[in-house]
Amino acid sequence: MAAEVTSLEALPGEEVSGDLTPYGGVAADAAWREEVLRLAERHDAVILAHNYQRPEIQEIAHSVGDSLGLCKIAAECDSGTIVFCGVHFMAETAKILAPDKRVIIPDARAGCSLADSITAAQLRAWKAEHPGAVVVSYVNTTAEVKAETDICCTSSNAVEVVRSIPADREVLFCPDQFLGAHVKRETGRDNLHVWAGECHVHAGINGPELAEQAAADPDADLFVHPECGCATSALYLAGEGIVPREQVRILSTGAMLDAARETKARSVLVATEVGMLHQLRKAAPGVDFRAVNERASCRYMKMITPAALLRALRDGVDEVHVDPEVAARARASVRRMITIGRPGGGE
Ligand code: SF4
Repeated sequence: MAAEVTSLEALPGEEVSGDLTPYGGVAADAAWREEVLRLAERHDAVILAHNYQRPEIQEIAHSVGDSLGLCKIAAECDSGTIVFCGVHFMAETAKILAPDKRVIIPDARAGCSLADSITAAQLRAWKAEHPGAVVVSYVNTTAEVKAETDICCTSSNAVEVVRSIPADREVLFCPDQFLGAHVKRETGRDNLHVWAGECHVHAGINGPELAEQAAADPDADLFVHPECGCATSALYLAGEGIVPREQVRILSTGAMLDAARETKARSVLVATEVGMLHQLRKAAPGVDFRAVNERASCRYMKMITPAALLRALRDGVDEVHVDPEVAARARASVRRMITIGRPGGGE
């Protein structure tokens, strides 16, 4: 099928409107699979897919994982071309860590509301208000923001990164306010300032929904991503004894998969983007994984469609470029993170 396709316009329904309508018109069937894998081999390309991608994209990828884990694969693998099925800041991070490789994202419009919460200009202005402060940024940031950052962090090592900073130094933490609140609570630091950014998907997972579902299934484990608006509520519920503390697990996406394999619970409530359920169900088929909020779906992640992936491999678009000077500074902040604690994979 795809061998006859010569241009994007040739595919019905594949037109891009002015909004964020994903590329469409291609079914994820056997012919699509065969063509995608044939093109990947021909172009010496490795296909990497984030845990929040559509199931059919996760299934065809050579590797599936969290953002930092995938970026490490991008840097270390032998392939000259990386096709990064995720959102733009992730593909940028792959380019930062693998500057000599060609990095392609199947749809460059796949952004991230959290990464968009702070610009490099806003961060520079914030730094000017707090001279001498150490800037810690979550990996969900643009290359320009990483270049203005002292140390990047993931949700797995954010607490350790902040603890590594002398207690008398001010810390500016961005962009996620929920992860920042988690770090502030864990470290007890008064001199940690948190940027008021958020992810629209994680912020939509709230405490009341979590409490209701936990009450309906008191034996279920609760897996909570620290960027979720419900992380504070989950800890509060645990503190009140409404949900037993040992049942509430605050986990990065990578750690969630480890916990899925180890849990003795028959059901698990999952508070993060719903794409994560696909890998959790594969990791532990005997466990009933349920989303705390079925509507917690990231529209940017879902922009990587079968049509977009086919287009990427066929036409070599959309290529990701990062200014070399910005990339060098950004790389330094990412490398500092890797030397502290266990970075895990972040989102
Ligand atoms: S789920 Fe949220 S943080 Fe993750 S890519 Fe989507 S908008 Fe960004």
